[in-house]
Amino acid sequence: MFPPEMPVPVVESLTEPYWSAAREGRLVIQRCTDCGAHRHLPHVLCPACGSTACDWDVSEGRGTVFTYTVVTHPVHGAVVDVVPYAVVVVELDDCGNVLVPSNVVDCPPDEVHVGMPVEVVFDRVTDEVTIPRFRRV
Ligand SMILES: [Zn+2]
Repeated sequence: MFPPEMPVPVVESLTEPYWSAAREGRLVIQRCTDCGAHRHLPHVLCPACGSTACDWDVSEGRGTVFTYTVVTHPVHGAVVDVVPYAVVVVELDDCGNVLVPSNVVDCPPDEVHVGMPVEVVFDRVTDEVTIPRFRRV
């Protein structure tokens, strides 16, 4: 979706399970093992109960576009030839309906709309980083 010059997310210890699962073609969402609340983006503390105990729940990867914006101004040199493109926030059907910021692939930005059903796809951008993105269904 983006050229190789596009900066990629930095894999840190907190997010390593997320990126490791994505490399294996799975979308996982952090879950508090004390109260059961899901959270995304990953965080050390549960925002619901303050616990640090957590594991990772596998999502089916289906959801709907909760909101989106269309980027028309290239904010980085790597996207000069890519604009316009859509940045979406997907509300998953499972995992506590958490919101996942991402992109929709193979869909012109003017066709993206709130409520559009989507499913996860995995965009391998480097050997270390595979980014969960979405396609319409
Ligand atoms: Zn909790």
